[in-house]
Amino acid sequence: MTERAKILLCGDVEGNFDTLCKRVEIVNKKTGPFDLVLCVGNFFGINNQDFIPYKMGEKKVPLATYILGPNYDYHVKEYQNEQYELCENVYHLGKRGIYTDSKGVRIAYISGIASLTESGPWTYNFQDVRELCDLPLRGNTGFRGVDILVSSQWPKDIVQKDHFVSKFQHEYVSYLCMKLKPRYVVSGLEGVYYERPPFRCPSTLESGTALEIVTRFLGLARVGNPKKEKWLYALSLTPLDKMKLSELIQKTTDETPCPFDFSRLEAQVCSTNNIKRSMPKQYFYDVNTLLNDDIVILKGQKRQKIDFDQSKCWFCLASPSFEKHLVVTVGESCYLSMAKGGLVDEHLLICPIEHFQSSLSCSEDIQREMIHFKEALRKFYERKDQVPIFSERNYKTSHMQLQVIPIPRKATNELQDIFIEESEVQGFKLEELGPNSRFHQVMPPKIPFFSVELPNKLILYTKIQGSVNFPLNFKKMWRRSWFKE
Ligand SMILES: [Zn+2]
Repeated sequence: MTERAKILLCGDVEGNFDTLCKRVEIVNKKTGPFDLVLCVGNFFGINNQDFIPYKMGEKKVPLATYILGPNYDYHVKEYQNEQYELCENVYHLGKRGIYTDSKGVRIAYISGIASLTESGPWTYNFQDVRELCDLPLRGNTGFRGVDILVSSQWPKDIVQKDHFVSKFQHEYVSYLCMKLKPRYVVSGLEGVYYERPPFRCPSTLESGTALEIVTRFLGLARVGNPKKEKWLYALSLTPLDKMKLSELIQKTTDETPCPFDFSRLEAQVCSTNNIKRSMPKQYFYDVNTLLNDDIVILKGQKRQKIDFDQSKCWFCLASPSFEKHLVVTVGESCYLSMAKGGLVDEHLLICPIEHFQSSLSCSEDIQREMIHFKEALRKFYERKDQVPIFSERNYKTSHMQLQVIPIPRKATNELQDIFIEESEVQGFKLEELGPNSRFHQVMPPKIPFFSVELPNKLILYTKIQGSVNFPLNFKKMWRRSWFKE
């Protein structure tokens, strides 16, 4: 059993350090031990005299307490030149980032007040938001979301109608919810306690996950407020990465519709930041023509009709969502790109330029070019005495990607056994493609599948039959295969 993390969430402290510490100590004794305290909103207040004994070591903060940065200019001085440890057990998280605790809970945070222009000592701008969104995708092909998002401001539109109007709200925080898919969003500043019934943020293609997990919002009141509204909230959770897929998609009884409209939100956020939302990426053809007409000319090829909305595909070369900085080379009908957050440095992808769902639907031209790419890559990896594994998952993907993952040559011996064992652990069976069979002969069209070509060119495959539990990434399997030397 995975150990559950226990975290205390705390609203604006505003200088009431003694009240906070006493309460944390009691709660920790009674229902703890807790791993840490996470504070949102203003940690410092108008009078911060009470903090001095903690700084001097005369009083002790009972638990590791993580706080956000200043929300006002007059609080900036309390952060002492952006020091991380403000006193024993009080840590300033910083402007933005992801903090992973010892149990694997991933906490995304953004400090301060949203600004349309500058990113200053107590403000953050859209650039900060975007960088924070990119962080969890790095080095993580199986991005599912984050466990907790903490911000001082509330997400805009989070409050259900006929409750109240939140003053400290911003669409940047809503945008972060959509992109980071947190299980909990915790904010402060309003001075009230508000818990919103859970909702699911729909997946966006570029979010890197098809999973739609439940998000819960908590607005916490001020420490020691006279109305006795809740300001300390005890959370016990299993880190997202250690949860079973089936647990994540489980429905809850009180689910509400997602309060955010992503395309409207994106349009709004991008227009206020003068970012062209559907910025066409120029390659060897004019993308504008391509998007406006249904007839396109691709590098001397025959005219072809495109009836797929390319603007929404992450892997269509002509799509505005396409990330061209990852491209290594573009061929006639395929391209080679770096994997976003690859498993290893030279984890690559071979994809058709145009929109095809799987290798089975690709034309012969494309298949031929893929073979060329594969041959070239085998030679490429040889220089480091590595060999590639090629794999394809035609499940929850709409554009074919052939994953190319190099492993040390000496790790290849037991590879087949590892794949077969690991797939059984995951609850499915990999079959061997016989020497005289072709893949399209064993795999009926339109059936989701997973296939892997081992360095000895043996193909293992499985049909994915109506099971929602098919693992979207095989990280463990890959890891085992290259660590076993
Ligand atoms: Zn596509």
